Amino acid sequence: MTTTTEAPASQPIADMEADSLIGTFPEGQRLVGSQCNTCGCTMIGSRVVCSSCISRDVSRVALPSTGVLYSFTRIHVGTAGIRPLGYVDLDNGVRTLADIREGDVPLRPDMRVELGIDDDDWFFTPAAGEKRED
Ligand SMILES: [Zn+2]
Repeated sequence: MTTTTEAPASQPIADMEADSLIGTFPEGQRLVGSQCNTCGCTMIGSRVVCSSCISRDVSRVALPSTGVLYSFTRIHVGTAGIRPLGYVDLDNGVRTLADIREGDVPLRPDMRVELGIDDDDWFFTPAAGEKRED
């Protein structure tokens, strides 16, 4: 008599349900997030699987429209000019890479930033209360 000890084959699964990160919620247009109903982890994007515990029991949530600029850089892109990019820590702790639009206030780490939306483009910009530090 023989026995087999093969593990069952696993199937790859897509973890994102949609490409767009902008959604309409009762509070207006916000970044779309997902919250795991098993471990409580909150993630950016419309996920079908929790990136922490791989549970498939996730709910769509609106992410905060404000946060803190953790770090940033400016990428020089040929004739397109300069594209500032930064990591933003949203007020619920979710960190995201985002386009940053500079205004009159120079960018600096730890400054408050807020979400802006132009059609399908989204970005963060210094929050209204931020002042120059000179
Ligand atoms: Zn989870």
